[in-house]
Amino acid sequence: MNVRESTPGVPVAAPSGEGEAVGCHSGKDMLEAQARAAGKSELLDRFAADYPKGPHDQPQSMCPAFGSLRVGLRMRRTATILSGSACCVYGLTFTSHFYGARRPVGYVPFNSETLVTGKLFEDIREAVYAQAKPEDLDALVIINLCVPTASGVPLQLLPREINGVRIIGIDVPGFGVPTHAEAKDVLAGAMLQYAMGEIKAGPVAAPRAGRSALPTVTLLGEMFPVDPMLIGQMLAPMELAPGPVVPTREWRELYAALDGAVVAAIHPFYTASMRVFESAGRPIVGSAPVGYEGTAAWLGAIGEAAGVSAERIAAARQAVLPGIKAVLSRSPIKGRITLSGYEGSELIVARLLIESGADLRYVGTACPRTAQSAIDREWLEAKGVHVQYRASLEQDLAAVAEFKPDLAIGTTPVVQWAKERTIPSLYFTNLISARPLMGAAGAGSLAQVVNAAMGNKARFDTMKAFFGETGQGDNAGVWQNTPVAHPEFKAEVRRQQQKRIARRKSEEMGS
Ligand code: SF4
Repeated sequence: MNVRESTPGVPVAAPSGEGEAVGCHSGKDMLEAQARAAGKSELLDRFAADYPKGPHDQPQSMCPAFGSLRVGLRMRRTATILSGSACCVYGLTFTSHFYGARRPVGYVPFNSETLVTGKLFEDIREAVYAQAKPEDLDALVIINLCVPTASGVPLQLLPREINGVRIIGIDVPGFGVPTHAEAKDVLAGAMLQYAMGEIKAGPVAAPRAGRSALPTVTLLGEMFPVDPMLIGQMLAPMELAPGPVVPTREWRELYAALDGAVVAAIHPFYTASMRVFESAGRPIVGSAPVGYEGTAAWLGAIGEAAGVSAERIAAARQAVLPGIKAVLSRSPIKGRITLSGYEGSELIVARLLIESGADLRYVGTACPRTAQSAIDREWLEAKGVHVQYRASLEQDLAAVAEFKPDLAIGTTPVVQWAKERTIPSLYFTNLISARPLMGAAGAGSLAQVVNAAMGNKARFDTMKAFFGETGQGDNAGVWQNTPVAHPEFKAEVRRQQQKRIARRKSEEMGS
């Protein structure tokens, strides 16, 4: 790989040398304008259509590119190279290794000169040729982060394939892809599109375990590893089998995914992937087999989409629903809950909580409203739940403040905020979406963790009573002496900030 000195944070000019210099610090609007000027308008328009924003600008979550990076790192015989500012790459590689990536992440750095002259693209090309070893790889993913996207680095000009290694170049800028959840779709969609082209061109490899003798249901969206097996058991009476989970863990699974009789959009925001499935003529079914009503409706919708007889659908329901009912009544959830997250499974978790007996008032998801989430949204709204798409942290916190739940399930800052107020809370990503949700097993496992967390209220009250306001606000940290407040310093800093903002505004108006 071509590794050279990069200068993080240094402003970089457009490859044409025209226009204003851009860098990570330039702000979203400047980066987007620069990207459009550099020929990425079509791509940005596609992102705007696939991943609609609003009601506010953009959810506050991690760098979106992490979603694409994670999908690539989880695939066998797949390597990933990042092209972006060193600080972005540092954060992304740190996070990916924190989450247990077992492979290195490639990096092609740049500086002002290599970006301006177009040499960065040549460096990427050189790195791609050096890495594309067919004995090791099926695919090589190259991800343009914010600055190279804004500067128009043309990954589409890379060869489609080198010595049999597929080359997948994608732009995943924070100013175009709102969440890391949707960035997973950017890469999954690009891979499906590529695989579709291969299928059209001729015979392709069968899945490692061979082709299923039964028609399959492709599962769209990452889920707990046991869930596809549970779904398989539920599908069996309809003579259907579970297909691969997309994003897949291996290239050849993409063909099997496209070969499915039906696509189950368990996570409903994979818009680019669904576009490919639709173009392959695959029907798409939203929601998931969660809880009693959810499972009954989902089995019916999947069966109908796959052309299964009413008798078989009834048999599938009969096989699983009594068990779910028994578990739900055996392990009820009693208490008020608010829920927020950025995984895309928030609405189905909300359904399961309600069916378990929880008094759920609010569901916030960082993902957008899509046609495939309509079934769950309508079901939840009919139960009086406020469903907030593209939820901001402020909206999530306002919901906790308003509804005063016995348990707040949410993102890290929501959990932290709630705990400071002695409200038991659970981190959605690690503690809720990392357990089975489907069928009877899902109903039981969720009740266990939720009830245990709600039972901790007394411990929070005891801790609060013991510590009081210690370590709050200005007093946080370890002190040798009792901290002395200096309101005059704060006033001075605020005055200087306001002055700076006013100066910047007048400069902008004058420019
Ligand atoms: S790639 Fe963009 S969104 Fe991601 S950390 Fe860098 S500047 Fe931020």
